[in-house]
Amino acid sequence: MIWDRRMETLDRAGLQELQEARLGWSLGWAKGRVPFYQERLKGWQEGMNPLKVLADLPFTVKADLRENYPLGFLAVPRQEVRRFHASSGTRGNPTVVAYTEHDLVVWAEVVARSLAAAGMKPGQTLHNAYGYGLFTGGLGLHAGAERLGLSVIPASGGSTERQVKLLVDLAPDGLACTPSYALYIAETLSQMGISPNEVSLTTGIFGAEPWSNGMRERLEAGFGIQAVDIYGLSEITGPGVAMECVEGKNGLHVFEDFFLVEVINPQTGEGVEPGIVGEMVLTTLSKEAMPMIRYRTGDLVSVNPEPCPCGRTSVRISRIHGRSDDMLIVRGVNVFPSEVERVILSQEGVSPHYQLVFEGHPSRPDLVVELEEMMPGALDGSGLTRRLTSALGVRLGVRIMAAGQVPRSQGKAVRVVSRIKED
Ligand SMILES: [Zn+2]
Repeated sequence: MIWDRRMETLDRAGLQELQEARLGWSLGWAKGRVPFYQERLKGWQEGMNPLKVLADLPFTVKADLRENYPLGFLAVPRQEVRRFHASSGTRGNPTVVAYTEHDLVVWAEVVARSLAAAGMKPGQTLHNAYGYGLFTGGLGLHAGAERLGLSVIPASGGSTERQVKLLVDLAPDGLACTPSYALYIAETLSQMGISPNEVSLTTGIFGAEPWSNGMRERLEAGFGIQAVDIYGLSEITGPGVAMECVEGKNGLHVFEDFFLVEVINPQTGEGVEPGIVGEMVLTTLSKEAMPMIRYRTGDLVSVNPEPCPCGRTSVRISRIHGRSDDMLIVRGVNVFPSEVERVILSQEGVSPHYQLVFEGHPSRPDLVVELEEMMPGALDGSGLTRRLTSALGVRLGVRIMAAGQVPRSQGKAVRVVSRIKED
């Protein structure tokens, strides 16, 4: 189902016209109201073609938000703000984001579109196990689900046995959470002796961490569902910036009437061609409270402009290859945790719970993949080591653990841990 057929199937010329008008508005709004942009957007003047000059304007980066903590980017009077969200701030100041009433309407709208793209229909029920609170996942999905006309079970994270009970007793159609938490729910189901066909779920809406097609297969089999990927980030709005459609299951449609996407070479800052992986840069086209111009997301994707079987005309971004922040360096070689996941989950007998552990001497640490086998003796550790080494170009260790030994996630998975002993 396409929620806003007119906008989601607009022809490219019509979309470009709309983007040009909205981008011009957004640049003027940001420059006129945010001191940071007044300085940065000196190169932009009213009357220029905004789509033509965009590539010459400077980027905005996460550090700019931290330096302007808490509300240096606010573009409206404080009393016009209806909601704040904030990042966890594990590395310094959290990032605070703000929404006007109109911003919240747009956010609910793009989430409604996303849920419809996943296959949800008005009248159905969504079990929302994204965390409610400062994180945008819970409340973001919630508002969009209500806008689409779903009933929502605001389960949030944790208390997994109770969640399983509600999944069985309230018989929701959709489940929204991180893919790693969905795995934990599936595992809890089987520990409680409940088989996938005893739950009514048909649709999984999973995001907020990178995941592979191997993980998709495990989740689809574990629940008997169709699983699709939702993407977003609080700096731009939250979940609902882009969404995979259930018909295509091959990349995420960007809601380009609200978010303008560019993909750049992260070293040079130059745009790259469709199909080439680079860093995604997003510009908000309607955001009032905190407009973002050319925000470097750190997420590595490629753009696919080819038509999609679902009929939506927006470009698709590939599933996130990883974040430039998540990239690990092992013996001088770049390694993405998502790439490790792709390799290990392509092997039969590997359970989808895994962690990457740095250990050994601080000057020359080893990276060891700790994973579980589905059945004792199912895995050949040295064969897996060879496959990982040839796929990643560097030798990683593999440690096969007993079932249940790898820590489970009840929110965002912790994929990388350090057990390096300092001298
Ligand atoms: Zn599609």
